Amino acid sequence: MVLLVSTNHIIIIGGGIVGVSTAFYLAQAGQHVTLVDREQFNVNASTGNAGIIALGHPPMPRPGLISQTMKLLFDPLNPLYIPPRIDPALWKWMWDFRKGCSQQQFRHSMHVLAELGWLAGECFDQLVDEEHLDCEYRRTGWIEVFRDPERLKQGLEEAALLREYGYNADELTGEQLHQREPAFLPGVAGAVHYTDSRLANPQRTLQELADRAENHGAAMLTGSDVSEILHTNHRFTGVQLKNGRRIAGDTLVLAGGIWTTQLAKQLGIAVPMQAGKGYHMNITAEPADRPSTVCVLAETFVAVNPMAGGLRLAGTVELSGINHRMVQKRLDMLRFGARTYLRNIDHAETTSTWCGLRPCTADGLPVIGWAPKSTGADNVFIATGHAMMGFALGPITGKLAAESITTGQPSYDLAPFSADPTRRAHARTRTTSPLGHSRLAPEHPSAGVCT
Ligand SMILES: Cc1cc2nc3c(=O)[nH]c(=O)nc-3n(C[C@H](O)[C@H](O)[C@H](O)COP(=O)(O)OP(=O)(O)OC[C@H]3O[C@@H](n4cnc5c(N)ncnc54)[C@H](O)[C@@H]3O)c2cc1C
Repeated sequence: MVLLVSTNHIIIIGGGIVGVSTAFYLAQAGQHVTLVDREQFNVNASTGNAGIIALGHPPMPRPGLISQTMKLLFDPLNPLYIPPRIDPALWKWMWDFRKGCSQQQFRHSMHVLAELGWLAGECFDQLVDEEHLDCEYRRTGWIEVFRDPERLKQGLEEAALLREYGYNADELTGEQLHQREPAFLPGVAGAVHYTDSRLANPQRTLQELADRAENHGAAMLTGSDVSEILHTNHRFTGVQLKNGRRIAGDTLVLAGGIWTTQLAKQLGIAVPMQAGKGYHMNITAEPADRPSTVCVLAETFVAVNPMAGGLRLAGTVELSGINHRMVQKRLDMLRFGARTYLRNIDHAETTSTWCGLRPCTADGLPVIGWAPKSTGADNVFIATGHAMMGFALGPITGKLAAESITTGQPSYDLAPFSADPTRRAHARTRTTSPLGHSRLAPEHPSAGVCT
């Protein structure tokens, strides 16, 4: 069914990678668009992340995860940590997350994310090339590095899974990794190089993209906190800002990251998510102490990105609610988690620290689609829930959102990402292809190409 929506004035709440990408594509299509964000494109999850554009990678919920990590979930030194507390929304989310770890959900998520990955890579390439984004963008892939031979076995299984979807994954011995990346210390059991993926500086990407959206005519209202979403029987009519200003609108895009849950509630829309807090630490590093491309240290879950003349160490997932409290012990885990892999980590100076909130759905798939019809909010589009993949999937999400709003016909079927739980579940039952049968990869031009 083609749904055409009046698009006189489109308001986007959220100036992270998802909201800014949506503003860019809408403005490029000649729409009247206003983006509002309480910050200045500098402190959200989209600015401080690890900068990996990991294509086709599995989602957070996966078979066996709960049983493997249950004992460690409440240990503050485990990369995935849940401070024990009474929070019914968290417990409901965890129950659903447990269901999300089923084989069926995993297979379905893998299938759609693998397909979307090809489009995401193309979308990023096109943006960077056509809009000349100056954002340290490189097509050099990412490397997962293992010290433990048992973990390496699991890593190789995951690599085999991605290959079934057409992604290239080169296996490296410890010696080969060391020759390629002398910054690593001896003792590496092996590595996998996902050569189709890309990397970039997320802060620069966001700022550059915001500038281009503005050049195309989008109004970017930073420092504008939305205190209320105005509506008539849940049909969106405008936003009320904390500074007293009201802005009338015809269509709303909710791209408020983890805050989308609260914002959507004002319109009677349920978008249940939990905040997955992560940290980064930027450190100084001599060129010889930096890997040439972004790496993930598998056992400690620390990403290492050679960025802005130093190194960014990023990682950990902490389900501690919506807050930006930095726990020193968790921050220290980054340096601790990197020191056995890389040279001179202990001597490096810390230049900045940061934490950000990943918007995490329980089934591991983002929410990209119109609000469910039953809510009456038929002029509200939701784009959130990208968890660990928001930087990589932000631009393609913005493109698909803009297509949905302007033509009613997105170039990729958004049913698996529906905000309507029934449609989402129905899409799951339709994923019948066995693993290894991506609809895009085999004849896709960039399949298997190392750039
Ligand atoms: C440590 C860490 C490492 C990561 N590494 C990677 C990675 O390597 N690759 C990857 O793909 N992803 C990564 N991610 C995930 C990625 O950063 C997120 O998925 C993504 O940034 C989410 O983008 P967003 O636009 O949805 O939300 P956000 O970036 O959080 O933006 C939401 C915006 O909405 C605004 N907002 C909310 N409510 C209101 C309101 N009421 N009024 C006005 N403004 C409002 C906020 O101010 C905010 O700017 C990482 C995340 C973390 C924490």
